[in-house]
Amino acid sequence: MATRALESRFEHLSVNDENDPGNGSKYKSKIITSTTSSTTQTSQNANRNNLLKLAIQNQNTTNTIVTVPSQTAQWRGSRIQNGSGSPPRNSGSQELTRAERKSNPLYEQPAVPKQFHLGMFEIGRPLGKGKFGRVYLVRERSSGFVCALKVLHKNELKHGGAETQVRREIEIQSNLRHINILQLFGHFHDSKRIFLIIEFAAKGELYKHLRRENKFPEWKAAQYVAQMAAALKYCHKKHIMHRDIKPENILLGSHGEIKLSDFGWSVHAPSNRRETLCGTLDYLPPEMLKPGRDKNVYSNKVDIWSLGVLMYEFLVGEAPFEDTPVMTQRKISRGEMTVPGFVSPEAKDLIKRLLVLDPEKRITLDQVQEHPWIIKHCVKGERATMRESKSTGSKYSGSGDE
Ligand code: ATP
Ligand code: MG
Repeated sequence: MATRALESRFEHLSVNDENDPGNGSKYKSKIITSTTSSTTQTSQNANRNNLLKLAIQNQNTTNTIVTVPSQTAQWRGSRIQNGSGSPPRNSGSQELTRAERKSNPLYEQPAVPKQFHLGMFEIGRPLGKGKFGRVYLVRERSSGFVCALKVLHKNELKHGGAETQVRREIEIQSNLRHINILQLFGHFHDSKRIFLIIEFAAKGELYKHLRRENKFPEWKAAQYVAQMAAALKYCHKKHIMHRDIKPENILLGSHGEIKLSDFGWSVHAPSNRRETLCGTLDYLPPEMLKPGRDKNVYSNKVDIWSLGVLMYEFLVGEAPFEDTPVMTQRKISRGEMTVPGFVSPEAKDLIKRLLVLDPEKRITLDQVQEHPWIIKHCVKGERATMRESKSTGSKYSGSGDE
């Protein structure tokens, strides 16, 4: 794509930065590429801590979408406090004791602005387009950290009735830290848009890989299932169910590892049970389809069912209950599906233990991790791509918790 065309496409992003403490227009968008060479990776890792530090500070101050006073005002405020905008220095007349210095927050986090703003990022190529906005590859200027920036337009969210969904996505995803869950580092907004700073998933959508390969070999499917089980176990421990597991909502990291995303439908489940109907038909568990008294009350076992559908689709190339909407519903509610003969007996056994009509009788995530098919294909510490790249350098625990 021509560089100039790309730059002009991004122009509005930097020029309209309302929260930029400096002059937004001076941050002319530079094009960055998504190279994931080992050197880039190393510098990404080194810079990750910086951004994380910022992210954590940001999350501590604001966890929901709130209208904050303009960033410029906040920035000015900190300048007024220390007189210059640069890290505070000890002036002779105002010398502080060591104890005072220790308790003075200005000395602990001197010049770091607490909020993110658009001017902090170089905007790169578009990574994709969702229902309510676009996602760009970006680089945080001071650290060089590469991540993704999701730009959502407030009026579109409002018209689409998706404000709650986004708020939920932000609240939930910013509290999750797991190698197999796409991390949300922070968020900020201006009058028209909401910006989400997200971990960059270098290998993109799992769905595209599946369509390209038609179906995955068993060793690869097993490693994906193990990583999904690890991610879900982590979520469930935090009383969060995802409720929208499908290949479209899974991205892949630079090592080909699973990065579960799209927590828009997920729910904090204080009582472990919720009563709304949502999700995509093919992946819906039977308990979410059945109307009537006490039947639409369900638990985090919904994700176990969806993991079964996912595993089937990985191995067969299509979802087990795929049909017309009416027939799909009928098949799901009866658990009617056949596993083709080319699927190994061990894999077939696990699918059948996941796709159990009675949620209470479904296999648990612990048992998934211990299932012979998983054990057979997942040497502890090995990931799907390591076989492809024949790399043995780094260790990843696909089935481990954080
Ligand atoms: P929805 O609006 O239902 O969430 P979606 O998941 O397709 O749909 P987005 O989450 O906005 O929409 O993402 C759009 C596309 O951008 C994704 O499908 C994916 O290809 C790409 N993308 C999103 N986030 C990232 C990321 N962190 N790293 C790499 N690519 C990403
Ligand atoms: Mg998405």
